[in-house]
Amino acid sequence: MSPIPLHADRGISLVRGEGCYLWDSEGRRYLDLMTNYGVNLLGHAHPAITDAIQKQAAILTNAHQSFGSPARDDFIEALAAILPPALTRISFGNSGAEAVEAALKYARVATGRTGIVATHRAYHGRTFGALAATADAKYREPFAPMLEGVRHVPFDNLDALEQALDDSIAAVIIEPIQGEGGVRVPNDGYLQGIRERCDAHGALLIGDEIQTGFRTGAPLACTREGVVPDILCLSKSIANGLPLGVTVTTEAVSERVPKGSHGSTFAGNPLVCAAGAATLRVLADEALHDEARRLGERFQQRVRALNLPQVREVRGRGLMLAVELKKPATPVIKAMQERGVLVLPGGSTVIRFLPSILIESDEVDQGLEALVDAIHVAR
Ligand code: PLP
Repeated sequence: MSPIPLHADRGISLVRGEGCYLWDSEGRRYLDLMTNYGVNLLGHAHPAITDAIQKQAAILTNAHQSFGSPARDDFIEALAAILPPALTRISFGNSGAEAVEAALKYARVATGRTGIVATHRAYHGRTFGALAATADAKYREPFAPMLEGVRHVPFDNLDALEQALDDSIAAVIIEPIQGEGGVRVPNDGYLQGIRERCDAHGALLIGDEIQTGFRTGAPLACTREGVVPDILCLSKSIANGLPLGVTVTTEAVSERVPKGSHGSTFAGNPLVCAAGAATLRVLADEALHDEARRLGERFQQRVRALNLPQVREVRGRGLMLAVELKKPATPVIKAMQERGVLVLPGGSTVIRFLPSILIESDEVDQGLEALVDAIHVAR
């Protein structure tokens, strides 16, 4: 048997990781600036996470949520210490898409409305609910018809949002910085404007921080702007590599979610929770976020200073970065891999960087050198 060919083939097999580096089956070392699509935020084989996983695996890997679990309680305590106090309730899933799926369901049941507003270029995952909120036709069309009631409006445009809001809309779902859509940072005030319009129309705000979470120079991209969503989705880096997604809500939303109306067998198991708690305790150190901000700004300044004619734009925040080219990104990404640096696309002409928050300046420079070299040789 072999896998259904759903993914691009990068042509190497990964066998080991340590810090910001990965090794393939031929023993070749790569600087990892993509961390499995933004998952390994603390790098590979981080001692605190490995230790937490090993200790928990040795005593109990599964405890269904109808039972208590000290590991789950510990994770919840670590997360609560980082999140805004208004977000008091949590439910568990195993991926980003599941966190979004739950958010959409809770928004409907809490408001008694069915409409969802998402944005052009949005990416929220591939399960049917999340897919309906995802914008790109190439993901949606093969599986049509989509869930009813979802509209897309231009990103970073409050007038278009205002026009889409009426009393049928349960929620607006937003990535505070679009990730898969090409690392698009909206203007300051956009999130605040969404919050105000949601409040005016009785719609909930769903913050999808699955990609932005913990990597934009602050724990959350929403709260950096003083915006607290009614429902927050987190996943990817939250357990530094183990599959965990969470949907966090206000008390008001949670009160209206009927008991037994949602769940998943593996969700919130002690093994992923132990990894999650260990990850969050490392990420509670604010100096890491300050450093992420500094390194991200330095990267952007350096690329701009090079004034490369092939580069259209460099953008991002913290360690969520993109270089948009005037030519296709894939050959450049391939040439970077040949030079021992792994990055990922963010659209056909965009090279995306989602490195570990523990990356050092000289590793960022090494990545930049490979980028410049690859831009010159790739055709
Ligand atoms: N939401 C955002 C913003 C994402 O970036 C992603 C994945 O890239 C998802 C949701 C879906 O997460 P998953 O692939 O874990 O289902």
